[in-house]
Amino acid sequence: MNREKTVLVVVAHADDMEFMAAGTVARFIDERHYPVYEYILTDNSKGSYRLSGPELAEVSAREAVEAGQLLGLQELRLEGYPDGELNLVSPNTLRDKIMAFIREIKADIVMSWDPFAPYEDHPDHRAVAMATLEAAAFSGNPLFHPEHLYEPHFVAEAYWFAKVPTNDADCYVDIEAAIDKKIHALLLHECQMDLTVDALLQEARTIGADLPIFNDLTPEVRNQLIEAGIRNFCAETAQAKGLAFAERFRYEKFGMLDKLFGMDLVQPDLV
Ligand SMILES: [Zn+2]
Repeated sequence: MNREKTVLVVVAHADDMEFMAAGTVARFIDERHYPVYEYILTDNSKGSYRLSGPELAEVSAREAVEAGQLLGLQELRLEGYPDGELNLVSPNTLRDKIMAFIREIKADIVMSWDPFAPYEDHPDHRAVAMATLEAAAFSGNPLFHPEHLYEPHFVAEAYWFAKVPTNDADCYVDIEAAIDKKIHALLLHECQMDLTVDALLQEARTIGADLPIFNDLTPEVRNQLIEAGIRNFCAETAQAKGLAFAERFRYEKFGMLDKLFGMDLVQPDLV
């Protein structure tokens, strides 16, 4: 059953999608011509060792827009909750906002952090994951948020990503054709790439690791380091399937028709 699907990626921070799923998103857009929307819930204002919170929020939003344009997103929406404090927003409020977005665009697929992946240390990732699951699972129910301006809408599929995937995360998307674009989009988040290397540098100093690459960390060296890291990570992920580069997800179908009729009425697109 080939039909156009609308995709909503819900994340906490500006670079979450690029790190975890931008190769798959690029393939949805470039090969399937699916409209992909991204919803970033925080203002990213804690993601730097160099800039103040307000400075950072501004720079980060600008870079997110550039990366979204490169990937060809239909729309990027920034909610702007304070970074690191999504736990202070009531779970029902988050669910409400995500559900309204799902209904507005009639999302067929949601992508987010896996609500059931272990060892996730970031409170924002845990909050956005559970709120997205609940919003997607109940978006079709008219008695959930009847005040929304949009009709109830059934979400069919989810792609959950995680730093430590669960054992049943067996959806490997081949991103060989999209790895360059993924890296390019990621590197557009310059303030977040600074954060990444600043954290590595701090770690190296603390544990007494003498790594010469950190002695002269120009933006070029920073980008080379990150590119190599992403290529290694995606190549390692791909090994299990004999691919060159992959992104890994726990793929979930909502609804019961497949089970009821013993058929695969809904299928993942890119595997
Ligand atoms: Zn994040």
